[in-house]
Amino acid sequence: VPQIESLLGRLARVVGPTNVITDPDLAKPYVIERRGRYTSLPQAIIRPASTAQVVEIMMLCHQAGVRIVPQGGNTGLTGATVAAPGEIIMQLGRMNRIRSLDARNFSVEVEAGVVLADLQRAAAEQGCHFPLSLAAEGSCQIGGNISTNAGGVSVLHYGNARELVLGLEVVLSDGRVWNGMRKLRKNNTGYDLKHLFIGAEGTLGIITAAMLRLFPAHVRQATAWVGLSNVDDALRLLAKLEDRYSGELTALELVPRVALDMVRGRWPDLIDPIAAIYPYYALVELTSPAPGADLRDGLGDLLAEMAEDGCVRDGVLAHNAEQTKTLWSLRERISEAQGYFGGSIKHDISVPRSRIPAFMRAAADAVGRAMPGVVIVAFGHLGDGNLHYNLSQPVGMDRADFLNRWEEMNRVVHDLVVLHGGSIAAEHGIGLARRDELARYTASVELDMMRALRSAVDPDGLLNPGKVIDLPSR
Ligand SMILES: Cc1cc2nc3c(=O)[nH]c(=O)nc-3n(C[C@H](O)[C@H](O)[C@H](O)COP(=O)(O)OP(=O)(O)OC[C@H]3O[C@@H](n4cnc5c(N)ncnc54)[C@H](O)[C@@H]3O)c2cc1C
Repeated sequence: VPQIESLLGRLARVVGPTNVITDPDLAKPYVIERRGRYTSLPQAIIRPASTAQVVEIMMLCHQAGVRIVPQGGNTGLTGATVAAPGEIIMQLGRMNRIRSLDARNFSVEVEAGVVLADLQRAAAEQGCHFPLSLAAEGSCQIGGNISTNAGGVSVLHYGNARELVLGLEVVLSDGRVWNGMRKLRKNNTGYDLKHLFIGAEGTLGIITAAMLRLFPAHVRQATAWVGLSNVDDALRLLAKLEDRYSGELTALELVPRVALDMVRGRWPDLIDPIAAIYPYYALVELTSPAPGADLRDGLGDLLAEMAEDGCVRDGVLAHNAEQTKTLWSLRERISEAQGYFGGSIKHDISVPRSRIPAFMRAAADAVGRAMPGVVIVAFGHLGDGNLHYNLSQPVGMDRADFLNRWEEMNRVVHDLVVLHGGSIAAEHGIGLARRDELARYTASVELDMMRALRSAVDPDGLLNPGKVIDLPSR
């Protein structure tokens, strides 16, 4: 009697036995969720090396009715790569080739598993710039960046990941390939399907490759750390920078003093850029691909003018690459530092920039009333109206007691976000962590359209089940 080969056996013939991982020790990097909120229990992790292998895997899993959770660098912060028992994680890290770079068209064709920092470097070697930049860039992958429509620190100038995508190659849940790898900046031939997959968090297809936009490399740059009294002044600084440097302003990040104290508490060797203490700091960056006057002089003059009218309290300019890196590391280490000071309840919100001061005042008041002593660590991409409105546990409170109030505090913050015309998921996406919040704050007509799209593209519900939005039970 011929033996029926198991699914894993057949998958091993596609990708090679070492790329079907079932050993719990080897599985660790793929099943551990960095915030420790979820546990993944997949039957295996599979690591394809080509689009053809992804096609075969999807066909086999489709036939067997086995569900697939796509995974890139596993740096996402919403539990979107967590797999339930019986599911298979498809990790794209072996698909890490830069297929071609067209410097005259300012475009680059990459496989989904290319690590973001590797793409930045490859672009720089050809005199180009790939602007997506975020603190996890050493391990997150292009497929993950596109699937989360990642934001990061250059959105102010270049937009989110969505704005950087010219074309995609996607394998659907039944194994069919959609080759949308166009290099075009103009193309109105029917529905623009790539946008369906951008930000879909792996629920509609497996992105196997992307055609991305490049930009000219910078030849001038200025980075400053600015002391401020309040958020209103940070917005006044932003407005002034946009008036004078609309073409060069690349980033404006907000760092409250409490966040800087946490970073310096965790890494005491890091130096406070400004000796005096201010309630807020802005990290400002200007860049330009064109030769011209030193941007540092211009930025220094602007800060001096704003100091005269009382908006800016103090500021320092980076004078070399090392100093620039140090200033950025103060900003980029905030999340990690916060974890060192006990539990933290996270919010990834955006409101229209004009509403930020009113939102911040209302939220501080409401959060303080709900939980006296809670520490508000609201930092991040002020220039985009996107703040990581995180709450650290009050001194002396039990960590578990604090974290048990996650939903209650979400309600306090998210109700106010919505009241101020904002979003409860600005750049990290929905995943599992915000699925109920999405359902709560989204109009039923919008939820119906999302469900209809998901059912149309993946009728058997095989891709990243349980994430973003539930399908009606079949
Ligand atoms: C320190 C730190 C800082 C961060 N800063 C930012 C920031 O500034 N801005 C920001 O937007 N995010 C930020 N993030 C979140 C995270 O890095 C981004 O969401 C990133 O884009 C995820 O990429 P990844 O490769 O790790 O994806 P993963 O975490 O592996 O996956 C994320 C989602 O994409 C899906 N997916 C992955 N690859 C594919 C594929 N090939 N096809 C289909 N679906 C796929 C997964 O199923 C999942 O739904 C940060 C994270 C950390 C740890």
